[in-house]
Amino acid sequence: MHLPRFRHLSAASFDEAVRLLNEYPAAGLMAGGTDLLPRMKYRLTSPEVIISLRTLSADSPSVTPEGDLVLDPMMTLTAVNRSDMVRERAPLLSEAAQRVASREIRNMATLGGNLCQETRCLYYNQRHSYQFVEPCYKRGGEICYFIPKGKKCRAVFMADTAPPLISLGAQIKIIGQEVRQIPLEDLYTSEAEKPLAMASGEVISQILIPNGPGNRGAAFSKSSLRGGLEFATLSVAAVLDMEDDGGTCSRARITIGAVSAAPLRVRKAESALTGKRLSKELFSQVADQAAVEIRPIPHHGHTRAYLTECLRAGTRHALCSAAEGIDFPGFPRSRE
Ligand SMILES: Cc1cc2nc3c(=O)[nH]c(=O)nc-3n(C[C@H](O)[C@H](O)[C@H](O)COP(=O)(O)OP(=O)(O)OC[C@H]3O[C@@H](n4cnc5c(N)ncnc54)[C@H](O)[C@@H]3O)c2cc1C
Repeated sequence: MHLPRFRHLSAASFDEAVRLLNEYPAAGLMAGGTDLLPRMKYRLTSPEVIISLRTLSADSPSVTPEGDLVLDPMMTLTAVNRSDMVRERAPLLSEAAQRVASREIRNMATLGGNLCQETRCLYYNQRHSYQFVEPCYKRGGEICYFIPKGKKCRAVFMADTAPPLISLGAQIKIIGQEVRQIPLEDLYTSEAEKPLAMASGEVISQILIPNGPGNRGAAFSKSSLRGGLEFATLSVAAVLDMEDDGGTCSRARITIGAVSAAPLRVRKAESALTGKRLSKELFSQVADQAAVEIRPIPHHGHTRAYLTECLRAGTRHALCSAAEGIDFPGFPRSRE
């Protein structure tokens, strides 16, 4: 498949990218290109101008005086995975970056591009011309091939790094007409046709992970049909902040990916952990709660019933793995 013709402009900085996006409002912004270029090949988008960030070299991760971790959105996923600072302060993000696609793609793909990737659907992410007569909702039409009676697009947001960053309470800095900092969670609209709350002239220039308490356990769990080169069937990112006594949870954040047009927190399940002493029985109850709190959108051949079981098992697995990283006596390890 060939790319459509386009003009290629390089931005030397995020500020220049914003200026060029305002000069060419219909342009496409490209970081690693591993999401944008395949979409162009499928004619899902055909910008006449591409503004490339590829000549920007990503700043190394750094820590502010308050202990917050600062990440450059142009870091490749390989760099995110290999960074000692990320492994130490946000191990679940390092793990999630390593679970994306293949090594070749992770060497090109950036963290910012991963967070801003388009929603996906089996019927949308392919060439339309040879089998579909009319465009679907996401292509500007008025039909859904997946749910024929559906009134709107049901494509799913599948980025692996978003759930860990949301569970870590990450903030993003966005530059455009003005500069704003918002929780990453607020970037996602839950509308599959326009999944990001960002204007076309805006760019993410920084990702900030707030400093966490000393005693914290965290884990990322991804279910997929194959071990590698596979989008998530469903993913779970769990962060457990602990009281000083070690065994009582002071705050929990659990975020589920690939169930909707946005990554979703399971807030009732999180509350069920707060103030409680951790145990495997509690984790099973919390996983049951998470499975009733979310109705996953069936996608890529997976039924809702199957995804609900993945959600239950993935949540329990992520919580048990997170607890293994916490220093407190009495919690049975996986081999016990
Ligand atoms: C075979 C294959 C397998 C894949 N498997 C996975 C997988 O398992 N998990 C997964 O999460 N993804 C997967 N992907 C999707 C994709 O490769 C990744 O999400 C990747 O991280 C996208 O990053 P990129 O830099 O290449 O983005 P690009 O393609 O450059 O950009 C993607 C979108 O983000 C926007 N964007 C990029 N940077 C910024 C920024 N700084 N500010 C604002 N907007 C920005 C672009 O305008 C574009 O709309 C897969 C892709 C392929 C082709």
